[in-house]
Amino acid sequence: MAGPRTLARMFPNGLSGAGEAEAFGRDAQTNVIRRWHNLTPAGRFIELVRLANQHLATAGVPAITPQPVTKTTTAGEFDQVTWQIHVDPTPLRLTQPTRDEAAEIVETIYHEARHAEQFFRMAQLRAEQGLSTAGITAEMAIPPQIAERATAAPLTPGSMQAVIAQGWFDSVYGPGRPTFNAVETEAGAAAAAKKAAKDRLEANRTPANEAAYAAALVRLRKAEVAHNELPVENDAEVVGRGAQVGVTLGAPDPVTDSVGAPPASGPSAIEPLDGALRDLLGEAAVDTSEQPVGVDIVTSRSATHALREAGTRTSTVSHQSSALNFAVGHSSRFL
Ligand SMILES: [Zn+2]
Repeated sequence: MAGPRTLARMFPNGLSGAGEAEAFGRDAQTNVIRRWHNLTPAGRFIELVRLANQHLATAGVPAITPQPVTKTTTAGEFDQVTWQIHVDPTPLRLTQPTRDEAAEIVETIYHEARHAEQFFRMAQLRAEQGLSTAGITAEMAIPPQIAERATAAPLTPGSMQAVIAQGWFDSVYGPGRPTFNAVETEAGAAAAAKKAAKDRLEANRTPANEAAYAAALVRLRKAEVAHNELPVENDAEVVGRGAQVGVTLGAPDPVTDSVGAPPASGPSAIEPLDGALRDLLGEAAVDTSEQPVGVDIVTSRSATHALREAGTRTSTVSHQSSALNFAVGHSSRFL
């Protein structure tokens, strides 16, 4: 009997539909990676989420909102409580991402967008099962307007989409909930512990700190393996990776590339978007200055790999306490 992980792969839908992920990668290559030097770090984020929202709209899923954060231990997060996405700002500040760096950024956005689709499908499932808008809002801790969209478009009973959504629901909100919570909690804790160990090593490069850092990397890797076994994560990993295919090049050279180079004068095309974000988040929300990127300590090839993997993606599901109206505890300053 195929389980929740297998079924989602056997029956692509929405963001996993034929060609969708690759098309998003191509959109991102054309509109963001190719135009890297015309966009501020905040603008890159806004534009990537705007493109993801086009694919979500096609899939009938409510749009997600980009939420800037100062720092995070994860590559990206989708918060179903606020229907917001936030990502690690560091890659967005790269002066000139390589093809692989660009592909990872694009993958993260699509991965988190897929989480939004998953949560919406679960809400549509619960609507089909007779739950009211208020009931879905309370049970899933999602915004009422999202629950309302779901009750207006319930899944078809017995459809493959409903079966897949049930598998996700059972894991996140049903019998799998204790495991889900434990795995998500450990993923976050292991990522934070790795970051702390890295900071200690950078401050004081002793054999003891090197050993502690290595142990933290091992703990994080184990946590990631368990994390990626969760049905929603397993699905988002596969779907997100599909977007990498559409990313064919890194950012162009700002000096020699006439398309990628900033205009000699006049406002950049992104300024209205930055302005909108300022309105949304307050003036301090957007810092358009390019700042140097911190250099990771990389001691070996395997460490390089571990560091790349270290950005564990987690959906912020408010199951870590009994309070369902969990709010993301990040400050609003971007970069
Ligand atoms: Zn995820």
